[in-house]
Amino acid sequence: MNNNRIVENDSRLRGNVLITGAAGFLGSHLCDRFINEDYQVFGMDNLITGDLKNIEHLFNLPQFEFYHHDVTKFVHVPGKLDYILHFASPASPIDYLKIPIQTLKVGSLGTHNLLGLAKEKNARILIASTSEVYGDPEVHPQSEDYYGNVNTIGPRGVYDEAKRFQESITMAYNRFHGLETRIARIFNTYGPRMRLNDGRVIPAFIGQALRGEDLTVFGDGKQTRSFCYVDDQVEGLYRLLLSDYSDPVNIGNPDEITILEFAEEIINLTRTNQKIIYKPLPQDDPMQRQPDISRAKKLLDWEPKVSRTEGMKITYNYFKSLSKVELEKSEHKDFTKHIRK
Ligand code: UDP
Repeated sequence: MNNNRIVENDSRLRGNVLITGAAGFLGSHLCDRFINEDYQVFGMDNLITGDLKNIEHLFNLPQFEFYHHDVTKFVHVPGKLDYILHFASPASPIDYLKIPIQTLKVGSLGTHNLLGLAKEKNARILIASTSEVYGDPEVHPQSEDYYGNVNTIGPRGVYDEAKRFQESITMAYNRFHGLETRIARIFNTYGPRMRLNDGRVIPAFIGQALRGEDLTVFGDGKQTRSFCYVDDQVEGLYRLLLSDYSDPVNIGNPDEITILEFAEEIINLTRTNQKIIYKPLPQDDPMQRQPDISRAKKLLDWEPKVSRTEGMKITYNYFKSLSKVELEKSEHKDFTKHIRK
């Protein structure tokens, strides 16, 4: 925690960036990207769902500093800050069912603290919002001007409403304090460093295939998702941060697939002979999800480049490289307590 001297003396660096949720899946990839772009990176995480393994390769770089801190408490970072990227939050249904209060707090109190810090430092802030602000959408594909269909009191409400509040308070700081803000609505994203036991469909299916278990499709598998490879996501986020646009922007891959077709793709990819078995659909599980990315295309000249075939190959190889112990620890948990009646 003593790199300020280095920053001040190193004229090659382009600025100082604080990334919250730095030890998580997206946060750690963002740390890599900003380090590669010659920024000084301050990574912050309370390690509830994040894992230091994701950033251990950065620990002896003078360009990186790690703060073990919970952003729902007052946040302090010494020296100047140019950018803040707020990526701290549980982000999978299984996590926010397990830690609902923390999920609400990091999206609300945490965001408030980071907006205050951005104001104090005169920094630009990008917040990680989500396609979940659209809830179980009645409009398809989802464009940014759709207001959403969210059940405030359902099990997903703790995440969805925290993120909706996060957008509101961010816009309030933008309008009332003139703060430079950016809002990314992130759609399902995947790649190396996802947690094998986070319950999300990609680690769940790959974990099951690797352990020789059947693949659990929830409901009839006709619900759709559109999966974006992490490098494409990070590119979109990077461009959004550097843009001058403060309304929300969808960042995701419009290539939509049903969960049943996706399970079949995983069986082909992993060359396993697993069967597909059906489990009840969790409550409020969105039936369809596909980003309309016209805004990102126009404003950021961005669109995803990595196909699902390519991205899933890389992701599968990553999961295969994990140790047997990790794989066994990650046994699949289902949502039967939260089924739709
Ligand atoms: N899903 C599934 N089997 C699993 C895990 C998830 O069929 O073992 C389904 C889930 O019901 C949802 C979709 O896959 O319809 C994506 O779920 P995920 O938890 O990855 O994220 P979501 O997009 O729902 O936030």
